[in-house]
Amino acid sequence: MGNKQTIFTDEQLDAYQDCSFFTRKEILRLHERYHELAPHIVPMDYTRNPDVKVPKQLIINMPELMENPFKERIVHSFSEDEEGSLSFNDFVDMFSALSETAPRELKAVYAFKVYDFNTDNFICKSDLEQTLNKLTKEDLTEEEITLVCEKVIEEADMDADGKLGFADFENMISKAPDFLSTFHIRI
Ligand code: MG
Repeated sequence: MGNKQTIFTDEQLDAYQDCSFFTRKEILRLHERYHELAPHIVPMDYTRNPDVKVPKQLIINMPELMENPFKERIVHSFSEDEEGSLSFNDFVDMFSALSETAPRELKAVYAFKVYDFNTDNFICKSDLEQTLNKLTKEDLTEEEITLVCEKVIEEADMDADGKLGFADFENMISKAPDFLSTFHIRI
């Protein structure tokens, strides 16, 4: 007989399904993972929308993110506070955007945010240098990085202002899809 614990109401599960690329079953599995990260603060019952956030440090240590060179920046771009902690909604949003099912355009929006290190809404040369250093695990010399950056900006910078706006960036990743490689994470 049904002594199955209610984690979410049907309405909540419908809503999560509508706003993410996950099925109900996957949402429940995500909740399980979220709960495991901090069992002392994340309740099993979410029917009353508890105001809970899991600290960034626990999230970036998940095996799915641990090796990702942009893990901190990824988590921050889905967090609504300065510390980078994630509510369950943020957590679902993040893994949804990173999932294989998420369209490239959506990944591009977050990749742009993550690569815009100085958060000025442009990818400038120094943003791109930091990005390439992380993407290539610092295998390239400083000179090589500078050369690649100049080439990439030259080719993608349609309005020739020396930095990449979002449209330029989309243009760049259509030619160099490796820039999105760190944005495919299966959980
Ligand atoms: Mg910038």
